[in-house]
Amino acid sequence: MQFGINTLDDIDVKDKTVLCRIDINQPVDKKANALRDTTRIEACIPTLRELSEKGAKLVLLAHQGSDIEYKNFWTTWPHAKVLSACLGKEVAFIDDVCGPAAREAIRALGSGEILLLDNVRFVSEEQTLFETKLLLSHEEQAKTLLVRKLAPLADLYVCDAFAAAHRDQPSLCGFEQVLPSAMGRLFEKEFCVISSLMEKPERPCVFVLGGAKIADAFLMMTTALKGGTADQVLSGGLVGEVLLWADGKDIGEGARAFIRKEGYEKLVDTAKELLAACRGKIVMPEDFAVVENGGRVEYRPDLIPEGAVVLDIGSVTAAKYQSVIRSAKTVFVNGPMGVFEEAPTELGTKMVWDALGDTAAYTVIGGGDSITAAKKYGKTKDIGYICTGGGALIRFLTGEELPVVRALRHGSRIKHTS
Ligand code: ADP
Ligand code: MG
Repeated sequence: MQFGINTLDDIDVKDKTVLCRIDINQPVDKKANALRDTTRIEACIPTLRELSEKGAKLVLLAHQGSDIEYKNFWTTWPHAKVLSACLGKEVAFIDDVCGPAAREAIRALGSGEILLLDNVRFVSEEQTLFETKLLLSHEEQAKTLLVRKLAPLADLYVCDAFAAAHRDQPSLCGFEQVLPSAMGRLFEKEFCVISSLMEKPERPCVFVLGGAKIADAFLMMTTALKGGTADQVLSGGLVGEVLLWADGKDIGEGARAFIRKEGYEKLVDTAKELLAACRGKIVMPEDFAVVENGGRVEYRPDLIPEGAVVLDIGSVTAAKYQSVIRSAKTVFVNGPMGVFEEAPTELGTKMVWDALGDTAAYTVIGGGDSITAAKKYGKTKDIGYICTGGGALIRFLTGEELPVVRALRHGSRIKHTS
């Protein structure tokens, strides 16, 4: 038991049907129809191996999105192949989530065998809309189709998806209401490392926030700044653009249109309030890069040509961020500084990640694409802690109890009869 939650040491899984929620959502290469990274798949292997070796009949639940913010759902079929290769043991796949075919496959499982169900977000109740608009309580989540259909077939629920611990959805918070529950080894490790670190970060503690999924970043910035966890925030990606827009700078119609398209225009008001309260601690980009005739060109805000789309921070900004990172004691990073996947717009991310690699500060990095960038620039060995969760890490840093942590504490109190 750690922090009021069962670990795998507290449950007996032999010959038991165990539902295990993992987060193996990875960046996908749409053109090649393949996964661009397998970090999260590799990270949950110890839990799966332990459960299988201890004789569990193991049922895996997972989701896969693509693009920005939950659009285009993918099957988890490719993940089963990668899981099998990593485990050196077959992970069966069924193209069903909780229908009769999935249930029959679960009933047929033998001890030690592993079955991956298809993308849980194919079930409408798992969608983010339910999370943000319907706000189902955990008790109500226990009444959703997924939980009603699968829980009766299972003895135990294990959550190893720390990366999704900020999500309030049936596959993550519903089963703990009805099944004895525990956290997996990866969840345990990530939760404990981050918890102890946050109790007393060495100062100065700098947050580097970028990327394209920025709602969570704005959610936590005020708390982290006002609450004093973060001494400074360095902004890049869409976070930097929204902050500058809020500050009355002209970031160009291209960038504004992109922010509107992603539904983030409302964050401009949040950014205004944030700047009013904590301006001194927020560092915004001074220059940006756009692509012209296939090449990189840098501009100061206000001078960005009509119609150009901002795709990276500029080199003046990146150099400034490098020196802040090099003189910090703790650095949390979530979200790349620009579209680092393309050569003309990777410089900002590359320079900042270089500094993460050689700073003496303790560095923590989270987020699928941020980790992909760390791999691309060969920094994974130099970073203090790579957290599979981006959003969960960010939400956790606000000091708020994560929904899945709360649910697991509940499920840890349900009696497990062996
Ligand atoms: P993480 O996965 O690390 O949490 P996000 O998913 O929030 O990060 O964002 C990563 C994506 O953001 C990358 O694919 C990158 O191309 C994109 N991105 C970064 N900066 C910009 C920008 N200025 N405009 C558009 N997309 C951007
Ligand atoms: Mg991402």
